Amino acid sequence: MKSAWVERDARAAVDRYGRDGITDELALRVYTTQLLGRDPKLVLHGGGNTSVKLRMTDLVGDEVDVLCVKGSGWDMGTIEPAGLPAVRLEALLKLRARTAMPDDEMVRVQRANLIDPMAPNPSVETLLHAFMPHKFVDHTHASAVLALIDQPDGEQRSRDVYGARMGYVPYVLPGFGLAKLAAGVFDADPTVEGLILAKHGIFTFGADAREAYERMIEMVTRAETRLQKNRTSVFVSGPIPQQSLALTEIAPILRGACAIKDASNEGAFTRFILAPRVSEAILNFVNGRDVADYARRGVITPDHTIRTKNWPVVLPAADARDPTWRAKARAAVATFMDDYKAYFARQNARVGGTRTMLDPAPRVALVPGIGLIGLGRTPKDAKIAADLAETAVDTITAADATGRFTPIGEDDMFDCEYWPLEQAKLGAAKPLPLAGQIAVVTGGGGAIGAATAKLFAAQGAAVAMLDIDGAAAAAKARDIPGALALTCDVTDAGAVTQAYAQVVAAFGGVDILVSNAGAAWQGRIGEVDDLALRKSFELNFFAHQTMARAAVRIMLAQGTGGCLLFNVSKQAVNPGPNFGPYGLPKAATLFLVRQYALDYGADGIRANAVNADRIRSGLLTEDFIAERAKARGLTEKDYMSGNLLGREVTADDVAQAFLAQALALKTTADVTTVDGGNIAAALR
Ligand SMILES: [Zn+2]
Repeated sequence: MKSAWVERDARAAVDRYGRDGITDELALRVYTTQLLGRDPKLVLHGGGNTSVKLRMTDLVGDEVDVLCVKGSGWDMGTIEPAGLPAVRLEALLKLRARTAMPDDEMVRVQRANLIDPMAPNPSVETLLHAFMPHKFVDHTHASAVLALIDQPDGEQRSRDVYGARMGYVPYVLPGFGLAKLAAGVFDADPTVEGLILAKHGIFTFGADAREAYERMIEMVTRAETRLQKNRTSVFVSGPIPQQSLALTEIAPILRGACAIKDASNEGAFTRFILAPRVSEAILNFVNGRDVADYARRGVITPDHTIRTKNWPVVLPAADARDPTWRAKARAAVATFMDDYKAYFARQNARVGGTRTMLDPAPRVALVPGIGLIGLGRTPKDAKIAADLAETAVDTITAADATGRFTPIGEDDMFDCEYWPLEQAKLGAAKPLPLAGQIAVVTGGGGAIGAATAKLFAAQGAAVAMLDIDGAAAAAKARDIPGALALTCDVTDAGAVTQAYAQVVAAFGGVDILVSNAGAAWQGRIGEVDDLALRKSFELNFFAHQTMARAAVRIMLAQGTGGCLLFNVSKQAVNPGPNFGPYGLPKAATLFLVRQYALDYGADGIRANAVNADRIRSGLLTEDFIAERAKARGLTEKDYMSGNLLGREVTADDVAQAFLAQALALKTTADVTTVDGGNIAAALR
């Protein structure tokens, strides 16, 4: 590992922040924090923190000593000065005299001594930073250090590599107790350049930003060098099927197996998004004969437990010739959940029954022959779980190649997983109505498709936007965080299969289809060109069927129901003159909705339609509106509001109707009219 310090960049940071009145030391603190945070071998998703001790003017103008320490909610790789809230140092140092301190009180004292009352909560490791006398303190969970010390003889290995240059702190849960213990180790030998925290990570100290940072790089490099010595080859491969199921077949089965039925709302599930990963190192790990042993020993550093749980679920090798794989995979997940509930019951009894169980679903799945899969309630959470799992693979592989990976025990893992301060990192926000669901929207580049995708994403869904004009879908997707834009001609069955494969590879499955793509062909029905009529049927009927059939196949593999939503238009019930080529296939699609509702109701798959009219879109362009209004002697406004309510109907109104149908778990074969009122188009 090499130092990434670049003198010119450091000076640029000093100049840039200096213009906002930030001191050189704080600017360099930000600079090296970013350097640490950008290297996944050092820091991943909140696993680390840094600090600097400064003098600062408080809000009433007094000069005080402060500790600027990483605030929660900030990512080290992208941190800014506001991400290092200043806390009065004197108040923090006073706490050293105490013998014990509950976590909530520690948090209150830290908050009460912030210079800026609006600043984020200081890190849970604030007191450890405060108790070290050095100006700069850096902390990471570097994977090489973890591979070195997550061993039965971790202390001896630390001494072998670092001698007396690094202090060694036995494992305790982060917080007041760890800060006191670390301060004691430091006081016993104040010449140390840093501390190794057993089963947890590493601290380095410095008089300036560069010294603390480069000590971190040096100490991690020493661990890396040691890990290259006397390596044995590990992980004897287990039997891997000659022909594996594809990831696109496995993922929906895993999603379904992990979904948890909501006991209070029939038809509702707690669902997960999937983030698959594969690499040579991951395959070497998951294909090992003894994967169920080494993968399930525990977490490489305690704070991973809130993202990955303490163990992954290990699925059976996905043999394409084994018709019982789905049942075996579901059984493996069910066993995982039973084990988790038993673990919780056992541990909660130990701590006096004071904790509330989190959901028992796994956050990491290992599939021999395929790779690893992260799970989360959002695409971001799934990615974080996969990132941490990938780092765990590297760390455990290195640990077992040089010894035996030995993490903290179950009691310590539980104390960390159910530590209120760790739970706070996840946020207590109520999940959004569509959290964990995956929605595929066709015609995603158009007005109604884009409005629907945006609304569904805002309600928590992972959204894929398909459009024959991929650039249009991509342009609309730019406004929607995490949305996947795909080019897809929905009248091409092969393209549809491929689009679903991409959605499943990105998110793991599909729960909601919004089959919206359409186009209006016109012509007097007795004179219309046969080819035009057939083309209209391809897009306005058969494409809906192709999309729905492929969605249903995935939904059945998941076994958690699903929702098919169709845009059928007013033409399906109330034909307009010369709109036969458009209305006829739409009428067939209205019947298609009913057929799906009938045939798949028992599987929990609902089918509903929105019957919209006169929406500004690709079908009803501004030019077309102007022409129509003029032909009828109306203003554009009067033309667009020509309905019973006298209100123009928008793409957002249609999106709201689709959302209502997606959420109405007891409603199927419904047609919702969104047209401002048109009695001739009212459904019987
Ligand atoms: Zn830590």
